[in-house]
Amino acid sequence: MLESVNLKRKTLEDYIPFVGEEEVERIRRLSRSLKGLRVLHVNATAYGGGVVELLNSTLPLLNDLGLAAHWALLCREESFFAVTKGLHNALQGKRFELDARARDTYLRRNAECAKMLDAEYDVIVVHDPQPAALRHFHAKGGARWVWRCHIDTSEPDKAAWDFLRPFVEEHDAAVFTLETFVPPDLRLPRVMIAPAIDPLTSKNLDLPIAACRTIVKEFGLDLGRPILLQVSRFDPWKDPLGVLEVYGRVKESIRGLQLAFIGGMADDDPEGWRIYEQVKEKAQAHRDIFLYTNLTGVHAFEVNCFQRAADVVIQKSIREGFGLVVSEGLWKRAAVVAGNVGGIPLQIQDGESGFLAAGTEEFSERIVRLLGDEALRGRFGEKGREAVRERFLITRLVREELELYARLTSG
Ligand code: UDP
Repeated sequence: MLESVNLKRKTLEDYIPFVGEEEVERIRRLSRSLKGLRVLHVNATAYGGGVVELLNSTLPLLNDLGLAAHWALLCREESFFAVTKGLHNALQGKRFELDARARDTYLRRNAECAKMLDAEYDVIVVHDPQPAALRHFHAKGGARWVWRCHIDTSEPDKAAWDFLRPFVEEHDAAVFTLETFVPPDLRLPRVMIAPAIDPLTSKNLDLPIAACRTIVKEFGLDLGRPILLQVSRFDPWKDPLGVLEVYGRVKESIRGLQLAFIGGMADDDPEGWRIYEQVKEKAQAHRDIFLYTNLTGVHAFEVNCFQRAADVVIQKSIREGFGLVVSEGLWKRAAVVAGNVGGIPLQIQDGESGFLAAGTEEFSERIVRLLGDEALRGRFGEKGREAVRERFLITRLVREELELYARLTSG
């Protein structure tokens, strides 16, 4: 058996205060014909990154609706994760040397894991490139298979995509965040579903600002001076070194500015530590840069506090899947400046609910403007919260998942 992840318990009715009774009733109605449906989601890790956030919230709600949802992990192996991180980057356009050994590592792991998939399911959803060949090696059973791709695969590295495409195309459907992410030559029915955040997790629960400030102060920040925040994995696409550069530039005009950089480590991401060391070395020269990871005590609740206490939240991504952290910031009425890439422009209406930016100059200029204008920060905050309420809360994602399962299983 593959390692399974224990699911939390959630109740759909608890979301009525956020989305209203009508939406909850609509979801319950949709779920009626799907009661008992056996759904399995497979990904590579139970810790770190946006996919984990999504599964942690969506699957308990599917269970509350009477489906039988399960979450299983691919068996861990460092050499496998080194290959899959390379494939992940390659699908986002970076060159990757996919030699015979890497192919063999990838396929061997998928074949072994497929053998361990012994129960019967009606729908199996595999997330991202790591388990994309499971379906190939798991010929048995009558399940419908879905490849859920969370990244921007619009311009994949040719060799990597040529390798993966035949496996991907054995699925019954693919799900992407945006139409523009779909690789141009993919021959497979596709559905667009954007991710969403859960307002009832310790990451996103409403908290009194005074409590958040107390926590942030405990971590060493001076509440009398402005705080700039980025929360992201240490990943080249999140541009951590670019964040330091932007900070340096903004600090030329806002002398007291502090930077809090929270960068969790995902256990399927072997690149993280290397980049963390680079950031740490550069940050050492600055007294006012605070670097945290999940290993130094900054977990979901603390991230929540930092996102609420920061004066400006940035997400300096240069490539992005969706960028859940953006919705997380907007939901907390933070003033957000984020890269104009991937799913970020879905979430921010530039100049209305936040700023979209590219490059050090643009980021710095927008941040300085926001730090000097409390009213603008307040306006962005209110609009951002409403935008997330309308489009990026977990109930919408659950509804769209149900619609997908209904379509897949109705033949
Ligand atoms: N995150 C976290 N701690 C960290 C870094 C990231 O809890 O130190 C969370 C972040 O709050 C968000 C998720 O990890 O919920 C990242 O999702 P996103 O879609 O922004 O990026 P991904 O890592 O999936 O590319």
